[in-house]
Amino acid sequence: MARYTGSVCRLCRRENLKLFLKGDRCYSDKCAFDRRGFPPGQHGQRRGRKISEYGIQLREKQKIKRMYGLSEKQFHLFFDRAEHQKGITGSNLLVMLERRLDNVVYRLGFANSRTQARHFVRHAHFLVNGKQVDIPSYLIKAGDVIELRESSRSVKAISDALEAVARRGVPQWLELKKDTYAGKITTYPVREDLTMPIQEQLVVELYSK
Ligand code: SF4
Repeated sequence: MARYTGSVCRLCRRENLKLFLKGDRCYSDKCAFDRRGFPPGQHGQRRGRKISEYGIQLREKQKIKRMYGLSEKQFHLFFDRAEHQKGITGSNLLVMLERRLDNVVYRLGFANSRTQARHFVRHAHFLVNGKQVDIPSYLIKAGDVIELRESSRSVKAISDALEAVARRGVPQWLELKKDTYAGKITTYPVREDLTMPIQEQLVVELYSK
């Protein structure tokens, strides 16, 4: 699968939004978006560019894709599933993305970024309800327990991330028990729990044309 290997800070600057792709650096004064909050490139500081309706909708889709580190194909698969669920498609999409195992590992604080969380999941550092799961897109259900394997508890990057989680906090729909290296999804989040400034209805409009 094609993977973006360029500067991730450029993505935040392009989307005009902090996407929190670089772990601790995002919370420091080294954040490139805080320092240079204009689009990257030669014409980044040019004012007055008019964006079409399609362009605005496209940017919202890109924000979601980049925040969760999804390819176009992966995004489409999730969108299709969200469309077939009851309720509001845009909210269904975001809630489903939040339930991905890599995202839950990140939200619980076992990793500093979703990219790092995906790496840890792929290396089979986690158990879900006592069973090894190494699929980052695995969807966690309410009541599931995610646990760091005993043999992985000495991994420095994971313990460092757990130390740093206090800076961003654990969402209320998750419960972290640091002493047992375990976390639980107590209930599914609702859209209001996800405070990210994304207008997901624009993505739905983009696909309904
Ligand atoms: Fe984005 Fe983080 Fe880079 Fe800031 S440091 S621009 S939030 S990836």
